[in-house]
Amino acid sequence: MAQINSNYLKLPGSYLFAAMAKKVAAYKSAHPEADIIRLGIGDVTRPLVPAVIEAMHRAVDEMASAETFRGYGPEQGYDFLIDAIIRGEYAPRGVELERDEVFVSDGSKCDVGNIQEIFDTDCRVAIGDPVYPVYLDTNVMAGRTGARDAATGRFAGITYLAATAENGFRPALPEEPVDLIYLCSPNNPTGTVLPREELAKWVIYAQEHGSVILFDSAYSSYIRDPELPHSIYEIPGAKEVAIEFKSFSKTAGFTGVRCAFTVVPKALTGRASDGSMQSLNALWNRRQCTKFNGVNYIVQRAAEAVYSESGFPQICGQIDYYMENARIIRAGLSGAGYTVFGGENAPYIWWKLPGGLDSMRFADTLLERCGVVGTPGVGFGPGGEGYFRLTAFGDRERTAEAVERIRSAALFD
Ligand code: PLP
Repeated sequence: MAQINSNYLKLPGSYLFAAMAKKVAAYKSAHPEADIIRLGIGDVTRPLVPAVIEAMHRAVDEMASAETFRGYGPEQGYDFLIDAIIRGEYAPRGVELERDEVFVSDGSKCDVGNIQEIFDTDCRVAIGDPVYPVYLDTNVMAGRTGARDAATGRFAGITYLAATAENGFRPALPEEPVDLIYLCSPNNPTGTVLPREELAKWVIYAQEHGSVILFDSAYSSYIRDPELPHSIYEIPGAKEVAIEFKSFSKTAGFTGVRCAFTVVPKALTGRASDGSMQSLNALWNRRQCTKFNGVNYIVQRAAEAVYSESGFPQICGQIDYYMENARIIRAGLSGAGYTVFGGENAPYIWWKLPGGLDSMRFADTLLERCGVVGTPGVGFGPGGEGYFRLTAFGDRERTAEAVERIRSAALFD
């Protein structure tokens, strides 16, 4: 009899997102005339920019000729893209990287989910609360946790790093020692960014405890404040303690195209069971070469164009478009007297529900009274209860319309 990995049974399933989809479908079938505006899912809506489309067309044409056709590429990514990433993303911030420290992939979701494989199952894990749920779920699947407590929504064995309005969404250092620390900045869903001194605090913690920071900065291109760090490697010493994940998904509308990259510095090591120190770069390389066959050539040429002379201003324009949506949501809601966070250096607005209202129940109210779909905060961890996430990735007019509906509705009577 094939035994299953019973850790999967500890997960409640994607109950919340499934429940949300069901709610919206049921509402739509009961009210076919309803004009629903979706500000829930964190997916982009603007088309790819011209420079990216042109690069893809050129790459497709290359595939049509025997001289320029490409088969399997390097598992780590083509040098032309890795060089563009180092030049376009890191050099301007004073961060020096070598080619073999950058691993191109088909998405940050896979990378942040898979990275835990190179660490022992006994590693103690610290995860923000609320945060992107993939960090927790993949550690549950790997067997690094006990059961989920139905009353608190928390998994035994995980160190939750509470990010609250009270602490300015800057989690305190854990009281017990932890080995792996997931940090997401700008944070999904709170839309808040960890400033330099906060990151420095975590780097020092990791140095002192021999921990590794898993730094997800999928939304760094949305940072507006020039004082805020885009990369953890802007902090001295971070190369010895941190792995960084970045994605073209939200930066350049690649959610459907699929391209991202992960930086594993060669200075980074972990302890083996025999006490020797081993390179995490070598382990990740081994993992990728065994389980991944690289991102397709056409997509890598498209990603390269993001940093080109014509492409870069075009994607900046697209980010500006979404950030204007964020401004409209933020200004509209706070003008109506609501407390909102985020939306200034990230495409998410984190709405504090008056009276700490049940976020799942509020999703019904918002749908019924405004025809607007958002994401209940509890979907991002127990610490998200009492909050609601709206995204800035929608169409401008529809976003403005949603804000007007919210402003003029009696939502909390
Ligand atoms: N990291 C965070 C924080 C995210 O919010 C998302 C997607 O929503 C991802 C990673 C996944 O990105 P990708 O599309 O590159 O898999």
